[in-house]
Amino acid sequence: MDIFDRNGNFIVTVPASAELSDIIKHNGVYWSICSINASKDIANAERLDGFTENLEEIDEKANYDCYGESDLVCPVCGYVEDDSPHESGTTYCANCGAELEVEVEYRVSYYPKLKQMPNILEV
Ligand SMILES: [Zn+2]
Repeated sequence: MDIFDRNGNFIVTVPASAELSDIIKHNGVYWSICSINASKDIANAERLDGFTENLEEIDEKANYDCYGESDLVCPVCGYVEDDSPHESGTTYCANCGAELEVEVEYRVSYYPKLKQMPNILEV
């Protein structure tokens, strides 16, 4: 299967068993397969600039760059999820496919306005 970038430039040939969920590492650059043609001999891939395999780096990103953000940020590739999950649990990065365990925290804010005063007994 021949892999091309979004501009149609040839990148590399990979085994025909490659799937959409696979990440390609070629010359130190990571690529995410975006589409595969029907005969499975041509695929398009998107370059993953922020992707890392370094587990210490991923752990550091998870604890600092991705921690407590208002959107889900993938600690593996840095992708910011447009449609972040609303419940805690397992999810997958839409960009690199990494499986992530996500804890969702809701912050509650109160905006009180007077609706009715209590009865006042002046004696
Ligand atoms: Zn990712």
